[in-house]
Amino acid sequence: MTAERDGSPPTEVLAERIDPAAESRMDVRGIDGVPVLECRLPGAFRALFTTRLGGDSVGRFSSLNLDPRSEDDPAAVARNRQRIAAWLDRRLVSPTQVHGLRVAGAAECAGGPAGEPCDGLTLHPEIDKGLAALLLFADCVPVVLCGEVDMAVAHGGWRGILGGIVQQAGRAMIGPPAAAVIGPSIGPCCFAVGVEVAEAFAARFGADVVMSPGRGSGEGNDLPRVDLWAATAGACVELGIRPEQVVNPRLCTACNSDFFYSYRKEGPVTGRQGCVAWVASA
Ligand SMILES: [Zn+2]
Repeated sequence: MTAERDGSPPTEVLAERIDPAAESRMDVRGIDGVPVLECRLPGAFRALFTTRLGGDSVGRFSSLNLDPRSEDDPAAVARNRQRIAAWLDRRLVSPTQVHGLRVAGAAECAGGPAGEPCDGLTLHPEIDKGLAALLLFADCVPVVLCGEVDMAVAHGGWRGILGGIVQQAGRAMIGPPAAAVIGPSIGPCCFAVGVEVAEAFAARFGADVVMSPGRGSGEGNDLPRVDLWAATAGACVELGIRPEQVVNPRLCTACNSDFFYSYRKEGPVTGRQGCVAWVASA
């Protein structure tokens, strides 16, 4: 697939790929020529997912790579990040992600020791003024949680989802989360895993999140596949979020590698897209 199929603008092509159930809860639009997938959240809470389009990076990192830890040209990454920060007119808080379970406040993270690892951030209208959280992804599951008081974003790799990063993010919020968005990430179509990982997911989230080898399409048909989206949705429901308030555009990063970086599809030398969250009134 190509992001510029039939000469249609990339925003239109991406919008067509959103799962119909999520269409009314997300918008695809261009910000300064950069196509983004924006969540419709209540109140002043805002979150968007960047794609790989619209940046300065070239080659395998083409083009909106936001990861300063990649082997990409640091100047191109800095320009890409600055493009987002300038559009938001906010300071980006972008911690070192380690597939851990630590969740911090955005201001706390911004003021803490540089490089202190963190895989989730909370944003509060009074505490985190002028800040935007930026977490980076290339297959792992971005999760946005939103309540009446504050919001949180989390980086959910399979280890994190199994270990409870979604629960940690929900508990770190001051008010209870009432809505969630699952961002572009590796889908059940493409997430083949070893038997031990499959068994761990089945034990934690139920047998429904694991598909036996050979069922459905996708690579790795001789291996079981895990539905990280279903596991993540299950974790959100455990936090008290109603199932219909868990929005998922069902955009698999490996199936849509024209729009998104995918570690599984492209290997370790690739870029990272972002999940950006902020409180508009803060
Ligand atoms: Zn896929």
